[in-house]
Amino acid sequence: MNAAPAPGRQPHARGRLAPSPTGFLHLGNAFAFLCAWLSIRKQSGTLVLRMEDIDPERSRPEFAAAILRDLDWLGLDWDEGPGAGEGPETSSSCNMPGVGPCAPYTQSLRIERYASALLRLEERKLIYPCYCSRKELRLLASAPHIGDEGVPYPGICRQLDDAGRRKREREGRRACLRLDTEGAYALAVASGLLSQNTQSGDSRGAYLHFADAVLGEQRFCLQDCGGDFALRRSDGVVAYQLAVSVDDAAMGITEVIRGEDLLLSTPRQLLLLALLGCARPPAYAHVPLLHDAHGMRLAKRHKSLELRSLRAAGIRPEAVVGYLGWLAGLQAEEQSPLPARASELLP
Ligand code: GLU
Repeated sequence: MNAAPAPGRQPHARGRLAPSPTGFLHLGNAFAFLCAWLSIRKQSGTLVLRMEDIDPERSRPEFAAAILRDLDWLGLDWDEGPGAGEGPETSSSCNMPGVGPCAPYTQSLRIERYASALLRLEERKLIYPCYCSRKELRLLASAPHIGDEGVPYPGICRQLDDAGRRKREREGRRACLRLDTEGAYALAVASGLLSQNTQSGDSRGAYLHFADAVLGEQRFCLQDCGGDFALRRSDGVVAYQLAVSVDDAAMGITEVIRGEDLLLSTPRQLLLLALLGCARPPAYAHVPLLHDAHGMRLAKRHKSLELRSLRAAGIRPEAVVGYLGWLAGLQAEEQSPLPARASELLP
């Protein structure tokens, strides 16, 4: 899937919708999904639906089923994914291999792939167990940091020797696995896979660059993205950053269009993609988040702006899609939004 295209030729566009079935979709999710759908349909590319149910505590099959129903209601179809080719009624569970060359498209069915990626990183000595508890890390939370990322991990457990690790294990501590980001960055640059995106680090460590199709040129210090971030939690659950990177590489994704809340994930994913040997990382576009009338970012607590609530209130999907298309600048700004089907927003 990752075969490089002939020089000068654009690869076939492959995008993805990557919902987490941890709640119901709201208007903000629909906005990002509509943008991703329009971009791929405009290029006659392939859209993958990937169910990101990696967190067993928070993911529920009924949310996955509701997501399929909401996408169907919005008229956003996909080409590869769990139950693709079947109506949402028949694919009420996402827990099926799915249809397409990269199946399965459900993360809980792809666990061995993440385990083997971890193994490869471990062989290259790029990960280390970290025994710091959440409480200990919370105590650091007053240190300066940007966004929602928390304080960069200060590297306490990076230096532990075997005896130190055994001691913590005897204390009953369970370790998460962290990426040694400085080592990983050095290796990725040495392998030539980060050369186009990076510039040499300064005293704060490595920086990653990428061109965001919405926000323009971006430059982040890995320290501002959480430092040595976790790839596997202490309860054994694979971290979002690893699962997404493994899947974007394996599924040959060429563009990622998602909400701006994930902007600080992109440098981490670019680093992981390079370590996974992905020579052509996706192009990224982070679209604005929607806010409610009080300026609060739409989130799972906004029940009235969930798609199912809008549907239950008798609102037509064309009204929702037309409004979102208007927000995206696809309808004349000076006019009120006109109802539209997604395909009618294609130029
Ligand atoms: N599954 C993630 C979420 O719903 C999005 C992943 C991504 O687009 O990279 O927040």
